[in-house]
Amino acid sequence: MEENKILEIFLKTNALLRGHFLLTSGRHSDQYFQCAKVLQYPEHTEFICSKITGYFKNHEIDTVISPAIGGIVVGQEVARQLNKRFIFTERENGKMTLRRGFTIEKGERVLICEDVVTTGGSVFEVIENAKENGAEIVGVGMIVDRSNGKVDFGVPQISTFQTEVISYSHDECPLCKENIPVVKPGSRKIK
Ligand code: ZN
Repeated sequence: MEENKILEIFLKTNALLRGHFLLTSGRHSDQYFQCAKVLQYPEHTEFICSKITGYFKNHEIDTVISPAIGGIVVGQEVARQLNKRFIFTERENGKMTLRRGFTIEKGERVLICEDVVTTGGSVFEVIENAKENGAEIVGVGMIVDRSNGKVDFGVPQISTFQTEVISYSHDECPLCKENIPVVKPGSRKIK
């Protein structure tokens, strides 16, 4: 299955790590995912994004739009494959907004792209912003859906990989019980 090939790429590029990790939330997990690690490689980005492009190939799209920063590489590549315009939103005083002279015309058909969706917060904000500008939302394409399909944007959506992050508090962590050293991803420090 195609999802296995994508998993293989995640593991090969160390985007998906397996072990014993301290997450930024303070909870422990047996896996850690850093999408930027896979997006370092244009050939992998091209292959993975082609799954999103393929899904939306029969949809009429004017513009691809992504929330900064994570979604930019994904949106740019999807837009390149579709040969459509690409823009991104950024947060300004906490609000998701179009800057740099980017505009959306009334009735413009937009496809939203993101790297990783957990609760979908950023994507929902982009949808809201695009709708405020009078756009029609064609759909949402994401590389990883960490809600395991639970997040519903109310438009056609595709993720190239679905997973559910299982995390534990320090007290209940089975890996701690096995005395496996816990690693904070992104640093060499071992607690
Ligand atoms: Zn632990």
